[in-house]
Amino acid sequence: MKRREIFAGNWKMHKTYQDAMELVKGLSAGIKKAEGREYVVFVPAPYLRDVTSLCADTLLAVGAQNMYYENQGAFTGEISPLMVKDCKAAFILIGHSERRHIFHETDEDVNKKVKAALVHGLQPMICVGELLEERENSETLKVLERQVKGAFMNIDKSDMPKISIAYEPVWAIGTGKVATPEMADEAHVSIRNIVKGLYGSDISDALPILYGGSVKPDNIAGLYKMNNIDGVLVGGASLELKDFLPIVNV
Ligand code: PEP
Repeated sequence: MKRREIFAGNWKMHKTYQDAMELVKGLSAGIKKAEGREYVVFVPAPYLRDVTSLCADTLLAVGAQNMYYENQGAFTGEISPLMVKDCKAAFILIGHSERRHIFHETDEDVNKKVKAALVHGLQPMICVGELLEERENSETLKVLERQVKGAFMNIDKSDMPKISIAYEPVWAIGTGKVATPEMADEAHVSIRNIVKGLYGSDISDALPILYGGSVKPDNIAGLYKMNNIDGVLVGGASLELKDFLPIVNV
């Protein structure tokens, strides 16, 4: 079946304001329209509003890299779903491995953020993935099951078309160690099966599952040809036009 394809960049905590604006202009000029393919940039929160203005009427959608799940309150340093929405972002990245491992976000936090995103009409892209140690101990499936079921706790079937998943094995993020296309595809099939168990095959067949972890211009073609890889979430290689454009235009 033909699923939504999403090609996304995660800038993490990089770029000055000027560089960010230049990159977005270059991207919107360089992206070639491809049937059924969506493009998203997850930008640092201070740039959200200006990037969304620049991207209006382009092929690029914009997302925030994180948010808290409360609408407002005494949560110094956090941004709320209302603020993300106010900046006209369409997507929100939830549960990135750096959030889980550096900032100790739990599956319960991820679930609360997914719910908050849906209430405010934001499209959640949920990141899941195992640590190297977990893969070596043959625990990948167990970890994916815990993370996917945790993220989708009490999420209604009718909300599923707004959600995408990014499978990002933690050992492949920013390390240059990319999962082979076959390894990634196998994990994507497992994720699809977990979602099928929760919501049935119509929903699981339609769910976009992206791969992330050291995606570069020279490995995108091999990953993209796999049946269950519906796009990519790119960190390091999304920071330079010369790297990101060949990926999104594959
Ligand atoms: C990411 O940050 O989501 C990521 C996949 O990073 P990188 O492409 O640099 O491995």
